[in-house]
Amino acid sequence: MRDPAHATGTTLTIDLDAVVANYRLLSATAPGAECAGVVKANGYGLGAAPVVRALAAAGCRTFFVAHLGEALAIRGIVPDATIAVLNGAAPGAEGEFAAHGLLPVLNSLEAVAAWTAEGERAGAPLPAILHVDTGMSRLGLSDDELDRVAADPSLLDGVALKWLMSHLAVAEAPEHPLNAEQRARFGAVRARLPVMPASLANSSGIFLGPDYHYDLVRPGASLYGVNPRPGAANAVQHVVRLEAPILQLRSIGSPRTVGYGATHGVTGATKIATIPVGYADGYLRSLSNRGHAFLGRHKIPVVGRVSMDLVTLDVTAVPEAEARPGAMVEVISERNTVDAVGAAAGSMGYEILTGLGARYARRYVGASA
Ligand SMILES: *Cc1c(COP(=O)(O)O)cnc(C)c1O
Repeated sequence: MRDPAHATGTTLTIDLDAVVANYRLLSATAPGAECAGVVKANGYGLGAAPVVRALAAAGCRTFFVAHLGEALAIRGIVPDATIAVLNGAAPGAEGEFAAHGLLPVLNSLEAVAAWTAEGERAGAPLPAILHVDTGMSRLGLSDDELDRVAADPSLLDGVALKWLMSHLAVAEAPEHPLNAEQRARFGAVRARLPVMPASLANSSGIFLGPDYHYDLVRPGASLYGVNPRPGAANAVQHVVRLEAPILQLRSIGSPRTVGYGATHGVTGATKIATIPVGYADGYLRSLSNRGHAFLGRHKIPVVGRVSMDLVTLDVTAVPEAEARPGAMVEVISERNTVDAVGAAAGSMGYEILTGLGARYARRYVGASA
């Protein structure tokens, strides 16, 4: 395929040294635990292969993805690493998990039984992670299932459990009582099950303190620059930079409106810059009349609706020498972080990252690239 940069000039720069620095910081914040790398959803949109390569070089030995296909995509890059699949094995896919040495996260007793059967075919119990629900009400063994296992521990004899895990619902809000409740429930579950290493913390969970670290921490978003402690100074480095050239400038003299729906009115002399980024690229439509970008040192607001392939920005206050066709607009950067763009969109940094479009030319920088 032709490099999309030739068509648009829009560039997404991904700093792999920043990813590595973030991995090191997170590891150091949980010194007693192993630090895994969560690389689901194509490495949170940044590209699973380059991210996994960089993390592996930094010493990461355990990776989490959501789907079998995501695990297969990185298996060849890290042939000796532990790769765990959060959504588990779909019925019938167990053989493929075993063939590629993948660890399913066992989210139910049915999954335990299916993985037990796969172990019988293989001649020995196969490694896996047992997930218990302590407050997400999503995946993992329910209270009823735990009662059944506690009454008959032999239900787990056919699987080689490497970790017991659970997942925090509100780790980014340290004062929320559910954090301590989930930790207490996790402790109670551990006491009812055979002794095995444990894992509870995602990115924000790491910052809840050592009580939450156990044996393995599972950061994702913070590796990629999302602030794990919203409201506090961001401890991790920004990773992505999105720049797009001005395609065209429109000088408006008489009253007009800008864009679909005529949601932005212009009365006096106004200059509008149009850039080749749209909601089809993951620049959310909810940023219409709400987002902003930077042109040099000037903060420029998004005016009018975000359309599929274009965004319009008000550059009236920018000198002509700077606001010219071809000038690069900073759409996402250290000055306008994924967290800030997410907040302006009524969303969060996670959705901005995982939505980063396929039409951008991607450039990986840093010694780890
Ligand atoms: C996505 C995910 C993580 C990583 O969460 P972040 O908030 O991105 O650090 C950890 N554990 C589970 C079960 C997940 O689904």
